[in-house]
Amino acid sequence: MSQFSQDRLESLTNSLLQPTSANGVHARTGLFEQVIDGLSAAITARRESGTEILRFPPVMSRALVEKSGYLKTFPHLLGCVSCLHGEEAAIRALVEGQAKGPDWLNGLAATDLVLTPAACYPLYPLIAARGAVPAQGLTFDVASYCFRREASHEPGRLQSFRMREYVCVGTPEEALAFRKRWIARAEELAQQLAVPYKLAAASDPFFGRVGKMMAMSQVEQELKFELLIPVNSEEQPTACMSFNYHQDHFGTIWGLRRNAREVAHTACVAFGLDRLGLALFATHGLDLKQWPASARETLSV
Ligand code: ATP
Ligand code: ZN
Ligand code: MG
Repeated sequence: MSQFSQDRLESLTNSLLQPTSANGVHARTGLFEQVIDGLSAAITARRESGTEILRFPPVMSRALVEKSGYLKTFPHLLGCVSCLHGEEAAIRALVEGQAKGPDWLNGLAATDLVLTPAACYPLYPLIAARGAVPAQGLTFDVASYCFRREASHEPGRLQSFRMREYVCVGTPEEALAFRKRWIARAEELAQQLAVPYKLAAASDPFFGRVGKMMAMSQVEQELKFELLIPVNSEEQPTACMSFNYHQDHFGTIWGLRRNAREVAHTACVAFGLDRLGLALFATHGLDLKQWPASARETLSV
């Protein structure tokens, strides 16, 4: 199979994720969504008992994102919602192009909202507001449309994409054991989907020069792993799932405590639904009937 011919990949992408006039912003076709629905159901089928389900909108509180530390570590990826404020006459002049000088963009002012950058970000403050973390810990199933102002737009690197996550809040041992279980389940899922994959220690795309050092330390401490599947090339496979141990980062910021002394640790496993969908089509082609039986069975397609 000429899996990585750029022409093939481009036509594949364009037929499944139809381009709009904005980079990395696509319309999804029925065929693509059929596979996304199958993936979502397969992820749900593997959910651990006692997991609480929450679904988030594609926007969240700017103040919460500022407090979460995202603004300092990923300022280059964050999108902020801006709107026109002020008197009717001033707004009308701006939108009708009658204002002297600046056009309507210059009349925009930041609001209290940003675009949700990852599905688990709105969760931690929500848990914190409930009070102490129970002794047995907590697990969540969350999902959101996410936005990232990506610098490049190769197939699979979207500005607007769907993320599904499982999140664990507990002791360091619980968080690490949760991540280990999910790495095993994710590998099993990749095998059932009959996609070639590899698992590798990874780092987040931290901002700037200081960010490079943070990334190195993250890899060294094995805080992040990714499950990578070839989409654009075999040499540079695409991260389709990630397995993250945050240590006490969110616990400390949000005051997540099990008792007066112990700050909770957190871990999350994230499924990039659009990337997983694309990886499946890149591997098996556009005709679902030709897909391996185990993949069709796993996805009910
Ligand atoms: P990458 O290494 O590709 O920059 P990341 O390490 O920043 O991704 P995470 O923050 O771990 O990604 O996000 C969880 C998952 O969400 C990723 O494993 C991926 O499947 C998906 N994802 C992240 N960024 C994008 C994007 N720009 N477009 C589509 N899916 C994405
Ligand atoms: Zn997460
Ligand atoms: Mg990565």
